[in-house]
Order: sequence, then C-alpha cells, then structure tokens
Amino acid sequence: MQVLERVAALQHWSDEMRRTGRRIALVPTMGALHAGHLSLVQIARTRADRVVVSLFVNPAQFGPDEDFTRYPRTRERDLAALRGAGVDVAFTPSVSEIYPEGDATRVEVERVTEGMCGRGRPGHFRGVATVVARLFNAARPHLAVFGEKDYQQLVTIRRMTRDLLYGIEIVAGPTVREPDGLAMSSRNAYLSAEGRRQATVLQIALRELRERVRAGERDTRVLVETARKRIESEPLARVEYVEIRDAENLDSLRRVNRPAVAAVAVHIEGTRLIDNMLVEEL
Ligand code: AMP
Repeated sequence: MQVLERVAALQHWSDEMRRTGRRIALVPTMGALHAGHLSLVQIARTRADRVVVSLFVNPAQFGPDEDFTRYPRTRERDLAALRGAGVDVAFTPSVSEIYPEGDATRVEVERVTEGMCGRGRPGHFRGVATVVARLFNAARPHLAVFGEKDYQQLVTIRRMTRDLLYGIEIVAGPTVREPDGLAMSSRNAYLSAEGRRQATVLQIALRELRERVRAGERDTRVLVETARKRIESEPLARVEYVEIRDAENLDSLRRVNRPAVAAVAVHIEGTRLIDNMLVEEL
C-alpha cells in the first residue's frame, strides 16, 4: 500500500491507473477506522481494480463548538487496518494541501441539506460537499463509496455528483452495527458505560417506528412524537430531531406513502449520535 500525502502525487497515480484501464474506487473517511469503514472498503474492492481511502479530519465540516480538535486520530492503527484490508493507496493530506493558502471556493448543495442535520449543524454539509469535491478532483475515481449511516450526507453527495457532472458512480454501503444494534461510529468512544447502554435506544426507537408503519400508522407527526418519547425515556438522551423524509430526495412527508427514511439525532452525555432506517422500502 502506498501512503500519499500530496494531491499532485495522487493525481499522477490516478492518471497512470486510468491510462492502463484500471477502475478506481474512492472511500473518503476521517480516520479512527472501525468495521463500518472497512465494510465500505470491501464494497469498493468488489467494484473496482484499485482502492483509495482518504484519511482526513476535515475542519470545514465542524462547527466552532464541535469536536474537531478532540476528534480521535489513530493514524498508525488506521494505516495497518487499511493494509490488512488490501487498500492500494491511503491518502493522508495535510489541511493546507486540501485548503491551499487563500482558497475561496465552497460547494453549496441546496434543499437536501435543509433540516435534519442541516438545522443543528449550520455549514456542515457545505464543508462536506467542499471536501468531497476536492477529494474527487484529487483521486479522480470512477466510483466512490459512502455509508447509509450518514443518510443526508449520502443524498447530498449524490446530488452534488449529479449536478456538477462528475460522472462518478456513488455506491451506498449499509450501516454496520454493534451486536446490540448501535450504529458503529468513531464518536461512540466518547460515551461512558451507562451512556453507551442508553445509546441503543436510537436503534430501538427506529425499529419500533418501522413496526408501527408496517402495522398501518402513516401519520408522520404521530410516528415522530412516539419515537421522541421512546428515546427520551432514557434519562441521558436528549433528542435533537426525529424526522421522516422521502428516501430519495429528503422532501418532508405528512404521511408515509412512498419510500421513506426515519432519521434521528440524539445527544447523550454531550456526544451527538445519529442513526436512520428505511421505514418503507425503496
Ligand atoms: P467518517 O469517517 O465518519 O467521515 O465516515 C466515513 C464513511 O464511513 C462515511 O461514508 C460514513 O457514512 C461511513 N460510515 C461511518 N459509520 C458507518 C457504519 N457504522 N456503517 C457503514 N458506514 C459507516
């Protein structure tokens, strides 16, 4: 596995691969890798000849009061995991490599970034779209893999890729969970044992919501309120949002009458956790 830190070096490698007819997949991450990230690498491997994984904690997607400085950084462990997973290139740029001195360009994706995480994290998706656009131009992949765990991010990247005519295929990887159902996340490590136990309520509330839909409840206001109460029955859990949206374009829904996603953000002991579930299959 090559470890590249410079954009020019990655572009050169990518051009070389393209010239020899290799199909390139990109898996963008912020490092602190877990089995969820590695599942995306496996998907990438089945779909491409060469796999690039970026490790970059993107300052532009963190708000001023968020955890950018304390976000876990485990570079050596991550590189060992990527080597073991058969990755071809680990791209580990510095901040100034991705945001060159004096840069003034940002990517704004409208509509799908409104509400849900877009409300509680103003500027977050602008930071995500901006870094992914730059990573696309650095790696020049044929396809890129993103997790359904960050559902609004996935829809945002799909929209950006289509609108900016990238011609890159966006592949979604299913959410990988701990044995008790908690979605794997680098931020789970912030939780105490008790917080970690109560965090299973996100998944439980989403499953119960899906059951209610299957049993015939279609009113999203009723479904949302029931899920909110269920989550807040855990004393450490504070709900930021529960929303049910069109699974394709994230339009708000009054009734579940088409493929829909239920998504939640919950704060536990100051840690912000998200999860989602398709409640009416695509
Ligand atoms: P992050 O390092 O948090 O920016 O995540 C990098 C990629 O891994 C994103 O596409 C995430 O959606 C994806 N991801 C994070 N957690 C999981 C998980 N538990 N299962 C599947 N994919 C995940």
